[in-house]
Amino acid sequence: MSRAEKLTDQILERIKGKDVKVKREDILRRMKLLIEEFKVPESEAVRTIMNYLVREYGIPREELFDRDSPLVKIADISKVNQWVSLKAKVVQLWDSNSPNVSQVGLIGDETGIVKFVVWAKASQPEVEEGKSYIFRNVVTDSFQGRMQINVTRTSRIEEIDEDIQLPPREIEVVGSMVAIQQNSGLVKRCNECGRVLNKGVCHQHGKVEGYDDLRIKAVIDDGENVYEIILNEENIRELTGIGLEDALKIAHETLDRNAVLLELKNMLLGRYFRVKGLRGGRYLLVKEISVHKPKADDFNEILEALA
Ligand SMILES: [Zn+2]
Repeated sequence: MSRAEKLTDQILERIKGKDVKVKREDILRRMKLLIEEFKVPESEAVRTIMNYLVREYGIPREELFDRDSPLVKIADISKVNQWVSLKAKVVQLWDSNSPNVSQVGLIGDETGIVKFVVWAKASQPEVEEGKSYIFRNVVTDSFQGRMQINVTRTSRIEEIDEDIQLPPREIEVVGSMVAIQQNSGLVKRCNECGRVLNKGVCHQHGKVEGYDDLRIKAVIDDGENVYEIILNEENIRELTGIGLEDALKIAHETLDRNAVLLELKNMLLGRYFRVKGLRGGRYLLVKEISVHKPKADDFNEILEALA
């Protein structure tokens, strides 16, 4: 699609759903004339044609010029040439080696991250990494198969006093399990809400029968940070070979539900694990966990550190 066609469609997008019969060919012919023949800057060409539409078709000015595009989430951007507004945080800025580009980088909201380009001709205020903004009337585009948004002269960037959250990012940590909390092991959960019971009592639903489950709340230390993780029955069975049935058997044989926790502590505490998960503050939501066997080098490092 040529630039003239793209810009024509952007204009048509603005009056979509309005009861106006505008011929695409009419606009396209004028657009080609302006940007290809007369080499008028694109934003000027768009402005000229929108003025023409106001005059010839009686479209109210504010519909073409002032109407803000709908606020959308980044995850919902899937088509090119859509005029949208975004509430987003500047994740990262890159150096641009093109004189046509004023700023380029990544912006994100809680649903996703997308590349953005501020054209030099757009003459917009500069944005800063880590700050949140409303990007009004930006247009979607695609470059090398990936979506991006373009900030043009018709766009408006306004800083907002709100910290936009970014989507959780997957991280991998290798560390030792330094603690297992007391309310771990063979637990009872509330039949109503699934919360772990404390002495047969649900925080929300009071004294209930409950059902058995296996879980571990543990702390992983990777030498720099500590992460709290929660392991479900499946994780525990994979790591220790002890599933819910085995745990019930241990409790039955020893007449002590706590014996399960002791057994799990013996098997897990002080060991090294590789954990893949989503970071949410101090918690790490576990997606995958496996025993990590340190290499000889790691031991040397540890020995050196202890020496
Ligand atoms: Zn409950």
